[in-house]
Amino acid sequence: MTTTDLFETPERQALRSAVEQFTTREIAPHLPQWEDDGELPRELHAATAKAGFLAVGYPEEVGGAGGDAVDACVVTEAMLAAGGSTGLQASLFTHSIALPHIIDAGDTRLVDAYVRPTLAGDTIGSLGVTEPSGGSDVANIRTRAVRDGDHYVVNGAKTFITSGVRADFVTTAVRTGGEGHAGISLLVIDKDSPGFTVSRSLRKMGWHCSDTAELAFDDVRVPVENLVGEENGGFYLVMQQFVGERLGLAVQAYGTAQRALDLAVAYARERDTFGKPLIARQVIRHKLVEMHARTSAARALTRQALVRSLETPKTDPSLILDAVTAKNVAVAAVEHVVHEAVQVFGGMGYMRESEIDRHYRDARILGIGGGATEVMKDLSAKLLGY
Ligand SMILES: Cc1cc2nc3c(=O)[nH]c(=O)nc-3n(C[C@H](O)[C@H](O)[C@H](O)COP(=O)(O)OP(=O)(O)OC[C@H]3O[C@@H](n4cnc5c(N)ncnc54)[C@H](O)[C@@H]3O)c2cc1C
Repeated sequence: MTTTDLFETPERQALRSAVEQFTTREIAPHLPQWEDDGELPRELHAATAKAGFLAVGYPEEVGGAGGDAVDACVVTEAMLAAGGSTGLQASLFTHSIALPHIIDAGDTRLVDAYVRPTLAGDTIGSLGVTEPSGGSDVANIRTRAVRDGDHYVVNGAKTFITSGVRADFVTTAVRTGGEGHAGISLLVIDKDSPGFTVSRSLRKMGWHCSDTAELAFDDVRVPVENLVGEENGGFYLVMQQFVGERLGLAVQAYGTAQRALDLAVAYARERDTFGKPLIARQVIRHKLVEMHARTSAARALTRQALVRSLETPKTDPSLILDAVTAKNVAVAAVEHVVHEAVQVFGGMGYMRESEIDRHYRDARILGIGGGATEVMKDLSAKLLGY
């Protein structure tokens, strides 16, 4: 079966169509309001779970809906195709970065307390790695957790945390040991722990429907049993999830590019200038063809890496390279495509009422989050031996 066929099996076509219908009905009409509100309603998590889409790609043993990374990719593609956005994806599916470490560590108590209710849409989890002092250099985080009997006492701050305003818990990277990557652990910290505050809700260029927080920890006591995996093994856990996160962002990038292209084609057909539809102009058609070419290339590369990820250990250097390459190619594609799409829309592309304005703003974060483009290139050079 070719990679394309794998994404178009009868089951996946049915999944794609069901997600598109759900998005058209339950999401797209409300998204402008949620953008103004600065966050998604909690009920959307429950409704998406009830429809069967929140937990696609997670094993049933931990409360998931089953399926694999290709199914999860189909959900993302379909939501974007039907008028969703990457901001929506980031916030509604924050569990895709908050839960995998807990699932992989396999502690039944943590799975029952945090994974199941989140996949059921009843609770919201965030991942807290980035700090005010920096995000790219994960090995240098400063938030400290000191053991005191049956608890860790946590002090420090996190910033730019997706869904952090609404989250019920945060899977948090803390320093339990010495300097560098070998001193980092992951702790699940409950929002209602005394000393844990959302110090700021951050306003952003894009992703308006996704709440983003700065968090403060002031002598927060966290039970030792909320340690994920081994003490001082957190860096490895974080790194292990990067392949999935980066491929997920690559899917968001080419999915947005495809939606922006579709919107631009429709507009170019209906908009007349100088007595002819825009699409009658060769310069516009060539623009659309270039947008199509870059989007298709990004999709092919990303899907190929996704399919490899089903069978390849997450720590395999060639898979890490594929994921990093796919992310950078897809980010470059979407940045080109949203820019050109706004141009095709003219003044309307600059208006809040046009969907394309949202994609233009939302796309900008994709080359920064989950590993900035420059950092991805450094990693690629290392993996390629250059
Ligand atoms: C909307 C949004 C949501 C986010 N959600 C989360 C979240 O849920 N959880 C979380 O933990 N973090 C989150 N982040 C943080 C994100 O992961 C970081 O912003 C990212 O890792 C970059 O870190 P930084 O912003 O501290 O930039 P820095 O590390 O300070 O880097 C600044 C810039 O310098 C460049 N750069 C950095 N290092 C190098 C280098 N070695 N060589 C060349 N150039 C370099 C890059 O272009 C980078 O963009 C989010 C950020 C945003 C904006």
